[in-house]
Amino acid sequence: MNSKVAVRNCREYNPDEVYTHISDIYDRCNGPDVNNKKVLLKPNILNDVDPLRCVTTHPVVVEAMIRFLQERNATVLVGDSPGIHFRGFKSEKSGIYQVCQKTGAKWIDFMKDQSEMPLGSRKIKIASVAKEADLIISLPKLKTHQLTFFTGAIKNTLGLVPGFAKTKQHALHPDRESFSAFLVDLTEAVAPHFYLMDGIMGMEGDGPGQGIPVNTGVLIGSANPLAVDIIACTIAGYDPMIIPTNSIAVGRGLWLKDVKDIDYDGPILESLVKKDFKRVAYAQTGNVVSRFIMRKLKSVRSLQVKPVFIHDKCIGCKECIKICSQNALAMHPVKKNWVVLTDKKCIRCFCCSEVCQSNAIQVRRDFFGYSFLRKSYSAVRRLF
Ligand code: SF4
Ligand code: SF4
Repeated sequence: MNSKVAVRNCREYNPDEVYTHISDIYDRCNGPDVNNKKVLLKPNILNDVDPLRCVTTHPVVVEAMIRFLQERNATVLVGDSPGIHFRGFKSEKSGIYQVCQKTGAKWIDFMKDQSEMPLGSRKIKIASVAKEADLIISLPKLKTHQLTFFTGAIKNTLGLVPGFAKTKQHALHPDRESFSAFLVDLTEAVAPHFYLMDGIMGMEGDGPGQGIPVNTGVLIGSANPLAVDIIACTIAGYDPMIIPTNSIAVGRGLWLKDVKDIDYDGPILESLVKKDFKRVAYAQTGNVVSRFIMRKLKSVRSLQVKPVFIHDKCIGCKECIKICSQNALAMHPVKKNWVVLTDKKCIRCFCCSEVCQSNAIQVRRDFFGYSFLRKSYSAVRRLF
C-alpha cells in the first residue's frame, strides 16, 4: 500500500492557506482521481459543539476539502454520526452543516438509510452512503482519547456506524485491546480512500470530548491511515506503539510492512513534536518501573481509572445514561442532577464522558486515600 504521508505546518484556520496545503498534500500523496466521482467526506463530529472547543474537525478544513473536490468535478456528500444521534441530525453548532449549504455539498443523515456489511464472521450496521459513494475521504481530528489513548484516522471510521449501533460495539468489545482491534477491522473493511487530518488545533488532556484545545499546527494527509496516525501520535509526543490501534495494525502487517517504510514528506518531524502535549496519563511513556507499577494498578479493578461524576456540574440531561451500553448509570431517585454509577457493570468505555457537555464526568482513579496519595507523590516529586 502507498506509504506516503505529507505534513504541512499550518498554524491557523485561514481558508486560503488551508486550501493551498490541502491541494499540496493531496497531490503529493497521489490522492485518488475524483473527476465525476461521488465523494463522501467523513469529518469527526463526536458532539455537535462550537469548533473553538476542538471536538470536531474545523469547518474551514471541511470547506477547503469540499472546494478542492468540487473544482475537480466531484459531487461531494458530507456526514457523520455523533455519540448521541437522533434522526434529522444536522451538525449546525460545529458550522459543518452551514458549510454544506454554502458550497452545495449534500449533508447526509446517517440514521436515515442504513445497511449491513460483513465484518469478519458477523455483520455490522453502516450508513448506506458509505457503500454508495465512489470514494470516502476521512477528515479526522488530532485528539487524545481516554479509551484508545489517541483518536485519529483509524478511529474516525467508527462514525460511519450510525447511532447506538456504535455503542453496541463497546458492549461487544469491552476492553481497550478488543475495541482497538475492532476499529482496525472496521477501517480495513470500509477502507476509506484518503485521510486528511485536522491537526491545526488539536486536543490534549481529557479527549476526545472534554480536553483542552492546543495548537499542534499541522495538516497531515495520506491514503494510509496507519501512516497518518503514527506521524500524528509522534507529533503529540506519544510512543506510537503505545497506541493499541497502531500496534495491532503493525502486528498484523496491515497498511505498512514496517514503520520504517513510511515515506515522509514535510518539515523535520522532530521540529513538530509537542513535548509538553498533555497525553492520556496512563499512556505516558515512563521508565520500566513506572510502567510495571501502572500495569499492576490497572489489573486491580478498584484502582483503575473510571468515570467520576462531579455532581455540582451536572445539568441532568441524561445523555450519559442514554449512551451507556451496560445500563451502569441512573439518576439518583432523590437528589437532583446526580448520576449514580453501578461500578460493577461499568466496562470503562468512557462513552459517558465523551457525550457529557458539562464537564461533569472526569476519567480518573477514585479510591479511598487516592487524593492523599496523589498530593504526597506530587510533593515528594517537587522536592527532587
Ligand atoms: S453527567 Fe453530564 S451527561 Fe450525565 S446527566 Fe449530568 S450533565 Fe448530562
Ligand atoms: S458508565 Fe460510562 S464508562 Fe462505564 S460502561 Fe457506562 S458509558 Fe462506559
